[in-house]
Amino acid sequence: MTTSERGYHGIDIGGTKIELVSFADEGGHLREVHRERIATPGDDFAAFIAAMQGLTGRADAALGLRAPVGIGLPGVIDSATGRQLSSNVPALNGRQVVEALHEALVRPIAVGNDCQCFALSEAQGGAAEGLPSMFGAILGTGAGGGFCLHGRLLRGLNGVAGEWGHWPLAAAQLAPHGLPLYDCPCGRRGCLERYVSGPGLSRMYRHFGGGDDTPLAIVAHAQGGSALARRALDVHLDLLGHALASLVLALDPHAIVLGGGLSQLAHLYQKLPAAIARHLFPGVRTPPVLPPVFGDAGGARGAALLIRQQLND
Ligand SMILES: [Zn+2]
Repeated sequence: MTTSERGYHGIDIGGTKIELVSFADEGGHLREVHRERIATPGDDFAAFIAAMQGLTGRADAALGLRAPVGIGLPGVIDSATGRQLSSNVPALNGRQVVEALHEALVRPIAVGNDCQCFALSEAQGGAAEGLPSMFGAILGTGAGGGFCLHGRLLRGLNGVAGEWGHWPLAAAQLAPHGLPLYDCPCGRRGCLERYVSGPGLSRMYRHFGGGDDTPLAIVAHAQGGSALARRALDVHLDLLGHALASLVLALDPHAIVLGGGLSQLAHLYQKLPAAIARHLFPGVRTPPVLPPVFGDAGGARGAALLIRQQLND
């Protein structure tokens, strides 16, 4: 290989595993040439940095060049201090992760959150390929997302564009459903993700008198005739529809692509467009709600696309 050839590594850091994918950039087309997955050293920051060095070193060898790295990190980075906040990898909390990775990897790096990487992956070559704009909405253990315009991720002043899971719900909006304002780990109360994420749906089902069940089990109960499960799913759909209607009024995306565990719930694709439309005024078209092409596997791919976007700016 010559030094004029280009490539990128994308790394998706999760609570239990770190996945790296390397791509050769062939005239704009990304061809996967290497993939590796390791367990996340979750409690030891030095071990985490060493693992990242090892992964990238092996990926450089496979790609035949020292490639720039895009990284998808869970949680939020404090834009004032650069310190990692509310990550599900305990070793990273309070650390200046980006600075430490810069020092350890000695190359250009781009860092986005895992939801933004998901959105970028679905915008380029994924479910929203070719559309002028899209919103990638993750409904997993939390709720997050990213907005892409012409295949580019929009990050905003703080890098939190698309963090719809922490939109506050008003007590008046929850009262008709008989729901309280739940505390959120972000420090605020009534955040949307406490209700519409996977654990949020399970929490509402328990609140209505159901057992300790996963979203898939709740759907099965509803299909089996459980009124409690039906109620939890109806409230979930309504809160989700209301939130996505607000999103339509803010960004008017050409499609909404669902990600995370709840993207497996078939009824969302059938019923969400009408649930969104109920909260919009007549004459506003509802964007299609699409299943993901890459799903959870899109994190590392999106991270590689993120570093390419950053380098091309
Ligand atoms: Zn919150």
